[in-house]
Amino acid sequence: MDEMRNRVLIIGAGPVGLCLALKLAKEGVPSTIVEQLKDENFLDQVPRAGTNHPATLEMYQDIGLYRRLEPRGIIAPLFHYWDRAKTERIAEFDHAVLKDDTAFPFALQCERIKIVEEALAMAKANPLIDVRMGTEFTSFSQDADSVTAFVQNEAGEQEDLHGRYIVSAEGARSIVRKECGIAFEGFTYSDRTLNIEVAYDFKQHGYTDRNYISDPVEWSNLFHWKGPPERWRVHFPTGEDEDPDALMAEDAMQARMQRFLPTGRPFEIIGSNLYTVHQRVAEKFHMGHAILAGDTAHVNSPIGGMGLNSGVHDAFNLADKLARIWRGEDAEPLLALYERQRRHIAVQHTQLQTIRNKKLLQEKDPAVRQRNHDELRRSASDPKLAREFLLRTSLIASVREAAAIA
Ligand SMILES: Cc1cc2nc3c(=O)[nH]c(=O)nc-3n(C[C@H](O)[C@H](O)[C@H](O)COP(=O)(O)OP(=O)(O)OC[C@H]3O[C@@H](n4cnc5c(N)ncnc54)[C@H](O)[C@@H]3O)c2cc1C
Repeated sequence: MDEMRNRVLIIGAGPVGLCLALKLAKEGVPSTIVEQLKDENFLDQVPRAGTNHPATLEMYQDIGLYRRLEPRGIIAPLFHYWDRAKTERIAEFDHAVLKDDTAFPFALQCERIKIVEEALAMAKANPLIDVRMGTEFTSFSQDADSVTAFVQNEAGEQEDLHGRYIVSAEGARSIVRKECGIAFEGFTYSDRTLNIEVAYDFKQHGYTDRNYISDPVEWSNLFHWKGPPERWRVHFPTGEDEDPDALMAEDAMQARMQRFLPTGRPFEIIGSNLYTVHQRVAEKFHMGHAILAGDTAHVNSPIGGMGLNSGVHDAFNLADKLARIWRGEDAEPLLALYERQRRHIAVQHTQLQTIRNKKLLQEKDPAVRQRNHDELRRSASDPKLAREFLLRTSLIASVREAAAIA
C-alpha cells in the first residue's frame, strides 16, 4: 500500500480525533484528519466540556499535551456537593487521597476549545498528521482492505481520500455511524440544560472550583474557568416546553441567578446556551474498517464531566490497537477487543454514573435525599471510602477495568 493510502482517516478535529491522531503519530502511524471548520472559524465554537479528570491528564501527558493545557486551566483538587435549599455544603472530596494512584491528584478545569486549539497546533506541526481544515466529509465506502472518504475540500472541490481505516470522531451526528446502519440506543431527557456564564467570585461564598448542587426543584452545577475574563458556569434544568428565547432573555437569566444566589446586584453575564441531553450508546463500535469513537459512539449527561474524558480514553485505547495492527498483529481480534473494552465502559460506567448523578441532584423524596447526603458525607470523611469514590469519579477505575477485559 502506498504511503498516502496506508494511513488512518480520522473524521473530526474535536478532542477525540486530535488525541487519536497525536497518539497514533507517537506510535509511528500516519493519519489524515478531516475537519469541516476552517482555521478562521475553528475557535468560534460553543465552550462545552472542560473538567479533565486525572486518568485523562495522564493521557495528555503521554502525548505532550498536558504541559500546554496546564497554564490555560485551573488545577482543582477539590469538589463539593451542596444542598441548595439549606445553602449547606454536604461533602468535600479531595483528590489528594489519590496521590499513590496517579501523578495528577486533581482535575484540570480547561475548556474543550482550549484543548482543541492546543492539540490542533501540535497536530499541524507533526509530519505524520495531514490536517485538512475546511473539509467536509460527506460519505464513505469500504472493501476488505481499505476505505475511501468522500469530502468537499476547502476549495469547494469533491475529493476522494484513501486509507486503511476510517475513524468517526465526528460527534453525535456521525455520518459513518448512520451509513453503517449502527443503532444509537438509549433515550433523550425531556428537560434541557441552560448554561449561564458569569463573571463573579463564588469562592467568597464557600464554593470551590467544581460544585454539584442538589435541589428537588432546580438542581445546579457550578464550575470555575480561567480567564481572562475569570468565569463561572452555572447549569440549570429547564422545562421541556419553555420557550428558548424567554429562557435566555437577560432579565429571565438575571432573575434565575438571583434565585440561585441573591446578591441584590445584576450579574455580569458573559454567555449562555441551552442544550438537549441524550444518553445513548452505539450498538457496535466498529464495522469492518470503520470505527466509532467519542461522542459518535456514546453521549451522556454532562453531570460528572464524563463525555469528553471517556471519548479521549476511547482514542487512546484505539490508538494502541491500531498501532499493533500496523506492527502486523491480526486486526479483527484487536478491534473486537476495543469494542468489548470501551463499549463496556460506556454502558456500565459512563451511562450508569451520569444517570445516577442526575438522579442524585434532582431527587425529590426527602428521605432518599437524606440517605444520599448521609452516604456522601460518610464517603468524604472516611479516607478508604473517599479513595474508592474518587477512583470512580476520576475515571481511573474505568481505565483499569477496561484494561482487565480480555
Ligand atoms: C452544549 C454542550 C455542552 C457540553 N458540556 C459538557 C461538559 O460540561 N462536560 C463533558 O464532559 N461533556 C460535555 N459535553 C460533551 C463534550 O463536549 C463531548 O463529549 C466532546 O466534545 C466529544 O468530543 P468528540 O471529539 O467526540 O466530538 P466533538 O467535540 O463534537 O467534535 C467533533 C468534530 O467533528 C467535526 N465534524 C462533524 N461533522 C463533520 C463532517 N461531516 N466533516 C468534517 N468534520 C466534521 C466537528 O466540527 C467537530 O470539530 C457537552 C456537549 C455539548 C454539545
